[in-house]
Amino acid sequence: MVKIHWAAKDVPDDLSTASALKADIDNNTWVKLMSAMKDKHPVSDYAMPTNGGDNRLDITLVPNLGEQEGDGTEKGYLGITNRRDRSKCGNVAVDISVRSNLPLAELISTVAHEMMHAVLFAFSSGYCAEYQSLNEATATWFEDVAHPAYYYGHLAAPAFLNTASLPLEDKG
Ligand SMILES: [Zn+2]
Repeated sequence: MVKIHWAAKDVPDDLSTASALKADIDNNTWVKLMSAMKDKHPVSDYAMPTNGGDNRLDITLVPNLGEQEGDGTEKGYLGITNRRDRSKCGNVAVDISVRSNLPLAELISTVAHEMMHAVLFAFSSGYCAEYQSLNEATATWFEDVAHPAYYYGHLAAPAFLNTASLPLEDKG
């Protein structure tokens, strides 16, 4: 289902993070994701020139991730689901990067969010912007499904509530 990558030489401590993350995905997040999405899987990246060695969904632990576009809170970007073909909004393979130096509860919640994006990008979609709000809201909802004790979604509420006069599609 997933394959976790980390910089073993430069960040050896991420081995324990990767192991804990893998245990959560295998025993919790993947089970709930497949249940919620009726066994819809992320698109295989096997045909891509770089595919992580197999057809599994690649998740890379990146220390201090946050300088690029992605999902986050006021603390900066925590995770990103990267479409392997940026011209496509649906039926597209993805990979995931997540900031590794987070508290474990926040890390696994962020990965659950990104894994929902990976499944949503497996559906047909022709126009990215039209579905951006729904995509983001569904991924944030799944944080609560996967780890209800560690739900951070409310941190984004002011971004909507402080600008209630704007259309829903105004926010990503
Ligand atoms: Zn998101």
